[in-house]
Amino acid sequence: TFAPSTMLQQLPEQFFAKLAGTAAALKQEGHDVINLGQGNPDLPTPGHVVHSLQNAAESPLYHKYSPFTGWPFLKEAVAAYYKREHGVTLDPETEVAVLSGAKTGLVEISQCLLNPGDRALLPDPGYPDYLSGTSMAGAAVTFMPLKQENQFLPDFGQLNSSVLDEAKLMFLNYPNNPTAAVANSRFFEETVSLAERYGICVCHDFAYGTIGYDEKPASFLETPGAKDIGVEMFTMSKAFNMAGWRIGFAVGNASVIKHLNLLQDHLYVSLFGAVQHAAADALNGPQDSVRELTDTYKKRRDLLISGLRDAGWEVPAPAGSFFAWLPVPDGWTSEAFADKLLHEAHVVTAPGSGFGPSGEGFLRVGLVQPEERIQEAVERISKLDVFQP
Ligand code: PLP
Repeated sequence: TFAPSTMLQQLPEQFFAKLAGTAAALKQEGHDVINLGQGNPDLPTPGHVVHSLQNAAESPLYHKYSPFTGWPFLKEAVAAYYKREHGVTLDPETEVAVLSGAKTGLVEISQCLLNPGDRALLPDPGYPDYLSGTSMAGAAVTFMPLKQENQFLPDFGQLNSSVLDEAKLMFLNYPNNPTAAVANSRFFEETVSLAERYGICVCHDFAYGTIGYDEKPASFLETPGAKDIGVEMFTMSKAFNMAGWRIGFAVGNASVIKHLNLLQDHLYVSLFGAVQHAAADALNGPQDSVRELTDTYKKRRDLLISGLRDAGWEVPAPAGSFFAWLPVPDGWTSEAFADKLLHEAHVVTAPGSGFGPSGEGFLRVGLVQPEERIQEAVERISKLDVFQP
């Protein structure tokens, strides 16, 4: 056996692997487990995108290495998509990077911008990979608590000026995983002016950018000046149910895009050309499936929230993403309550503490099962002793 490097040892435990292991063990014992733990979209990729891949895979052109910064037609499709959906103008050659999923970009950006000891600002609770990326880069981290009373937006006034002076990179994510909050344009404007003042690069994770229930979520790049101070990560995973295809993009600040392109060339050269071809067809093609998907999550959301409220659990309605962020009943820790749901209702949820210290007191529930399974989960949860009079 070989010992792992210090860098590897410092990586946080793989939270979802642990959750999946517990669910699998219960299934093995013969229980009917409803998995609302991991954020893995349950529905298939739209048929026309699958056919596009099948046809493209026949082409010998795509059997070779693709151009190392991605196929120009795909970067043009990304730019056209941002123009159409968000009114944002992007130069396809210099302001779009093609990546193996948003996750890769979120980890790579720390390698690109941070030296050991440099400071990064991370949302707490937050998607665990911001911390994986900053840990790999040996960076120091300051958590920005996302509190319910601030609509789960960070309160920049709470960051002291020495932290702001040191900070080089800030991660934000709206629609938010795990809190299901959506940001407003005033908050994004505040972010741009803070970043300009302190020379911070903002990395906005827009993985759930197509999933807003009351209004269409804004891209960070719609904010005046955003391209000067930051990039946005967008992915095919959630919008087009293509999580297994591993394709996403970074868009925005040209210097950061250049660094990401250089690093990804050294890591994996480029993505399979046929996947890029199909992604371009998805972005250029009809967007009905994207709208239908949001409607599907909305129906699931309404079923879950109204069912839990009927059971006597006071829960807020998610504004975006495909998660619900539920305050645990009084007297419970998030881990103990998730454990209770798992063992007594056979429903897998993610304890909020797994997303950072400020996640304590909440559970994340993924709307990634059909309505009848969500209904079944609600019925089982309603029968728990905590909700009985
Ligand atoms: N960012 C957030 C907030 C996510 O929840 C996820 C996936 O769960 C990702 C990024 C990863 O996206 P991708 O599949 O493009 O790597």
